[in-house]
Amino acid sequence: MSDHFDVIVIGGGPAGYVAAIRAAQLGLKTACIDERQGKDGKAAPGGTCLNVGCIPSKALLDSSKHYHHVQHQYSEHGIQVSGQVNMDINAMLARKDKIVKQLTGGVTQLFKSNKVTFINGRGKLLKDRKVAVTDSGGQAQEMSAEHVILASGSIPIAIPNVDYDGRYIVDNEGALEFSQVPQRLGVIGAGVIGLELGSVWKRLGAEVVLFEALDSLLAAADKDIGKAAGREFKKQGLDIRLGTKVQSAEINNGEVLVKLTTPDGEDSVTVDRLLVAVGRRANTEGLLGEDTGVTINQRQQIEVDEHCRTSAENVWAVGDAVRGPMLAHKGSEEGIAVAETIAGQAGHINLDTVPWVIYTDPEIAWVGKTEQELSEAGVEYTSGSFPFAATGRGLAMGDATGMVKLLADAETDRLLGAHIIGANASELIAECVVTMEFAGCAEDLARIVHAHPTLSEAVHEAALNVAKRAIHRVN
Ligand code: FAD
Ligand code: NAD
Repeated sequence: MSDHFDVIVIGGGPAGYVAAIRAAQLGLKTACIDERQGKDGKAAPGGTCLNVGCIPSKALLDSSKHYHHVQHQYSEHGIQVSGQVNMDINAMLARKDKIVKQLTGGVTQLFKSNKVTFINGRGKLLKDRKVAVTDSGGQAQEMSAEHVILASGSIPIAIPNVDYDGRYIVDNEGALEFSQVPQRLGVIGAGVIGLELGSVWKRLGAEVVLFEALDSLLAAADKDIGKAAGREFKKQGLDIRLGTKVQSAEINNGEVLVKLTTPDGEDSVTVDRLLVAVGRRANTEGLLGEDTGVTINQRQQIEVDEHCRTSAENVWAVGDAVRGPMLAHKGSEEGIAVAETIAGQAGHINLDTVPWVIYTDPEIAWVGKTEQELSEAGVEYTSGSFPFAATGRGLAMGDATGMVKLLADAETDRLLGAHIIGANASELIAECVVTMEFAGCAEDLARIVHAHPTLSEAVHEAALNVAKRAIHRVN
């Protein structure tokens, strides 16, 4: 069977499925091919994000946060829980699975309502924008398109001498599925996944030790935020060992022996489960046939220009498979931009204003430049910060940890970076993104009315503090 489309998208994660829907909305005859299947063996579009990434991890973060709060925070509100508080791990996992299924089913519905042809199978780009497809039933077919969008996503990086077995040594997928709380959980990599999933199992009762190769925590974040985060995680009992490299991990009698090189020499630690979270790499193996003209670089990423064009005519690539941050919203915006460009519109994405969020407690969020990046680039800047402890809302909530820090150009006052650690940082960062997208200044934020009492008042006060005129702190 052969079929010709305006657009074929290979990969149905947040980059690919969003590109397909937008292309279809713009009147293009569109197909999306995604090979993933859910636990029930049925098609599960939505990629890493919906199936084994953003969504299930947030479901567990929220469940474990409730459990932790019942035990440790409700009493300060006068809420007394008599008797023991128990966590039904299977119920927690079932809730997560239900949310995943609802969302992947939602993507299938969106494909139908937008008339996107969805094929649950594996796609391979051939020469001249032909695509070989093997569907989940093993049926092979060839399709072709005016444009092909590659959105094959990413997979976890493995490290030497540490072999995943899916039970004792796991990646993110395994760490979302522990059916019991491990007594001792080791995590290689104190990055985003390590901190989020380490927090989940810590709150549920595991002893969690994180081995981080670098000497500083969250090296990509602003240094003040990284330091504040380190202090908070330490208070929570996360044992983060910086400057520690894992040499090997061995499974023996249901335990994992982790051998380490630490700043003080060789060491070893025994844990019950080991999560490897040392980063992800583009998933491009087997994606391309001969002579497609698409260039893959040494990091296995598909090479693209600023418009996500590959080196082959009318072949585009988006999401984790290309350069830039590996974030769902970045991939989705690229998908939209490419679909719009194909349809003759001015598709656009600004990688300088992609926000980052880490969903720990406190949450961490930022956009734009860090203080260290500005210093290194020799940019003259001013900064203003404000602690949540000085906000009425933070205190009323009983969640007043952290701060907002803003960086602005010293001459023009243009907002160059915003860094937040605290409750709802994930939501608060949005107004800073908007300000930066509109080339706004710290003064713009300072002159906007912010509702009282809200946590957003900390953003307002930090903006006032750039000009050293915050009201509720000594400047
Ligand atoms: P993917 O989501 O990886 O999707 C690609 C899809 O293509 C997959 O389903 C794959 O099976 C399929 N595929 C690949 N090759 C082929 C082929 N040849 N044929 C057919 N199908 C193919 N990001 C955030 O922004 N916020 C978060 O909170 C967040 N949390 C995360 C938590 C975890 C534990 C992990 C692992 C990641 C998280 N991320 C988060 C990152 C986010 O999941 C990715 O950035 C995002 O999923 C990338 O989207 P994508 O569409 O490029 O690729
Ligand atoms: P990461 O890049 O965030 O962190 C990996 C950490 O492992 C780094 O701190 C690195 O220094 C360390 N490391 C690397 N090799 C090591 C080694 N051999 N021994 C010890 N430490 C080592 O990667 P991740 O946590 O695996 O997450 C992958 C990506 O997924 C993230 O970068 C992000 O793009 C995405 N993600 C996003 C979110 C979110 O947006 N909230 C959540 C999870 C994942």
